[in-house]
Amino acid sequence: MVDRSDVEAIKARIDIVSLISRYLTLQKSGSRYKGHCPFHKDDTPSFYVDAEKGLWHCFGCGAGGDMFAFLMKIERISFPEALARLAAEAGVKLSSRKGEGERDKLYQINAQAAEYFAANLRHPRHGKRARDYLVSRGYDEAAWNRFGLGYALDTWDGLKARFAGRYGEAPLIELGLLVKGKGGRTYDRFRDRVIFPIFDLSGRPIAFGGRAFSGEPKYLNSPQTPLFDKGRQLYGLSWARDEIAAGRTAILVEGYTDVLSLHSAGVKNVVGSMGTALTRGQAELLARFAAEVVIAYDRDAAGQAASGRGMVILHNAGLDVRVASLPEGDDPDSFVRREGKEGVAEVVAGAVPFHRFFLQSLLDRYDLESFKGKEEALEEARGFYQGLASLPLRQEVARLLGEILDLPPDAVARELARGRTIRPEASEEAVEGTVWNEQDTIIGLLLRGEARWEEVSRLAGPEDFSGLHRDLAEAIAEVGDPIDTSAVISRVDEEAVRLASKLVIAPVVFSDVNKALNDALRRLVRLPVIEEKLRALRVEMRKTQDKERIDELQRAYRALVMEKIARRADAKERRASRR
Ligand SMILES: [Zn+2]
Repeated sequence: MVDRSDVEAIKARIDIVSLISRYLTLQKSGSRYKGHCPFHKDDTPSFYVDAEKGLWHCFGCGAGGDMFAFLMKIERISFPEALARLAAEAGVKLSSRKGEGERDKLYQINAQAAEYFAANLRHPRHGKRARDYLVSRGYDEAAWNRFGLGYALDTWDGLKARFAGRYGEAPLIELGLLVKGKGGRTYDRFRDRVIFPIFDLSGRPIAFGGRAFSGEPKYLNSPQTPLFDKGRQLYGLSWARDEIAAGRTAILVEGYTDVLSLHSAGVKNVVGSMGTALTRGQAELLARFAAEVVIAYDRDAAGQAASGRGMVILHNAGLDVRVASLPEGDDPDSFVRREGKEGVAEVVAGAVPFHRFFLQSLLDRYDLESFKGKEEALEEARGFYQGLASLPLRQEVARLLGEILDLPPDAVARELARGRTIRPEASEEAVEGTVWNEQDTIIGLLLRGEARWEEVSRLAGPEDFSGLHRDLAEAIAEVGDPIDTSAVISRVDEEAVRLASKLVIAPVVFSDVNKALNDALRRLVRLPVIEEKLRALRVEMRKTQDKERIDELQRAYRALVMEKIARRADAKERRASRR
């Protein structure tokens, strides 16, 4: 909904160095500026700004982004708030204002839908089963009111009958309240479910979660809508924000009922992740209020979260991350019912740093007496290690893992850093432990203007990259040469902007850019991939009639064949020299 040209106009008019200088002292350092990071305790200084590209990055805590990301983080405001402030300062009139009437209407419909669900819950006959269920779980009427709970009727068109006449079906579909089935028939998304409205920071209902009494799926959420970006929301934050900001600690749980039960018991600094897969957007949101987060999942979910990326994402957002250990078979909901507020305080106090929790989980899951078990544990630890932005923490992990596996920490650190990574030659400002893989190298060189997309695209397309790198590659392909960094980052989300700033600002200098690029391309696009691409090109050439397109395909084909020949020659040479 944000107009890209607005963002670019603002960036063109506001100088990022003078903006950031209002909050910290920046000194010129080469072509960049540096200072002490305001987001972590920074003696070094590790905070860098690239004025030309309009990006900043901290090597200490891994934070980074453009001027919007900086203002959001330092002022603890949302993107729309940052946009409004900087637009006013730059004298840019936001084109999104036009769409505001439309958005207001969507908010209004959601508010009325929440009222409608709440009224269903109180209906003498229709709401009885849901009321009984909630009371059996310990939620009385005071709790229904406080958390806005409701009930979706056991029909296909309860909500539709109520709202479609007034608003038309289109906004209801847009909000995910109605689903369009095969053949175009529409019906209620939520049927016979207890409804948990999801509120934004201003307390407006922006989405709904529905719990079934029986059957699957047990939980059903609103889809992504213009009001609801699931990757940037935490359940219950509007109730918890003040408490979290006051104590700087948040407790993170999984489910709606975990949040409700803890709040009801008087533990108020609690938010729900709405599933175990945490996103960078959620972590950044939490980091606006908290300095520390304690993860309180049930045992199974905590185990999964440990091997997943969630904890690393929280850590990389600048949060201290600890994991609370609940008794086997408990979730926070059941635990607080039995043990009360004091019991929760106890497990929170006993929570362990997340890297220790991760290492402990390796001990539990692998037979570390055997070589095979050690190798498997190392393999799993590699992903965890490489995801950590903090060098001291990476070293601590290597040291502890060395103790556990009875191996020298240096050897463990080398092993953990290995894999699909290459070590670039660093400049004098180099930060130890900066490791770039082939995707970092290619995207980094492109964003810095040291490589051209035309050059890269002879061998690799956006589809050869993965995750955030792919998002950036797609944006680069769209913008084309010469690559305008600001145009690229206005096309990607916050997470990708953060990666872009890291790659632009990292003190990684290649003495031979061409060689670095070619090496990285070779790692990215292996021989079998080239064969595959050649096959695809042959098929397309046979089908295509368009003369210009055929020329284009032939050029691509020739480039790939040349590459293939060059690699074969290399391989032969290497074999010969080994003899
Ligand atoms: Zn920092």
